[in-house]
Amino acid sequence: MTASGLNAFVTCHKVSYISTTRMPLNLPGLLVPFQLLFNPRIILPNLVVKDIRHLDFRALKEAGYCGAVFDKDNCLTLPHKDELVPELRDAWDECRDAFGEGNVLIVSNSAGSNSDTGGIQAESVKRSLRAPVLFHSTPKPGYSCIKAIQRYFSSLRTPVRPEQLIVVGDRVFTDVVLANRLRNLERGSGLIYQCFRCGFERGGTIGTENDATSSHKSIENGPLAIWTTGVWKREATFMRWCEKKLVDIIQRRIPLDEIAPAPTRFIKEVPPPPVGTRPWKFWRG
Ligand SMILES: [Mg+2]
Repeated sequence: MTASGLNAFVTCHKVSYISTTRMPLNLPGLLVPFQLLFNPRIILPNLVVKDIRHLDFRALKEAGYCGAVFDKDNCLTLPHKDELVPELRDAWDECRDAFGEGNVLIVSNSAGSNSDTGGIQAESVKRSLRAPVLFHSTPKPGYSCIKAIQRYFSSLRTPVRPEQLIVVGDRVFTDVVLANRLRNLERGSGLIYQCFRCGFERGGTIGTENDATSSHKSIENGPLAIWTTGVWKREATFMRWCEKKLVDIIQRRIPLDEIAPAPTRFIKEVPPPPVGTRPWKFWRG
């Protein structure tokens, strides 16, 4: 997609956003626990890292992933701030360089959402992070939002298929679920069918990732759900604790022969900060 095309896309979605009413509650996120009853694996990530510095974006690109969806708050920026966390600058540049401008999309439940009056924050984030911001009237992980992501990547000059995406974020009930719902949608089945099927099928998120990583450049089971556990500023502490506990419980319930090793080839070591510099502000990881 050209620069003018991107602007047109964003403007188009801004208009539809302005015309919608406010949605103070994240209903799609609140409904996730009910979906868990039928499909507990919907909250399982493929990969867990502390922050995006631990991701080898070039390895991901070489493996066939061509686009990235990023959460913003507590993943790239402080909550409700527009500027990239300074420590992430090199990693962010490497990501944009690997995937290409336009192929890295910010999807936030603050900037570009219904709570972003007039799209002012989205415009500021777009300039600050030098990446397009999706306007969406339904919060993550709503299916309307997922469809908007699909439309964006299919409209690029070189379209990117959903299975070629990585989805990176710090919240299980929004970012990880969004990636897994996107995968299930791509399999061509409806929500209710997926709820029942995935509850009993072998593999689910973890098992299918095993298949994906076992053959060279096979990403037929993408997109890759990447959970960043480091938090730059305390926020929603209780909900994060609940999410982590649920992930732990569900992972423990999966039979050992269905547990696949994490695709560690996409993880890289991060050198410690130089002596005398301020330590990282993570409070959990
Ligand atoms: Mg976040």
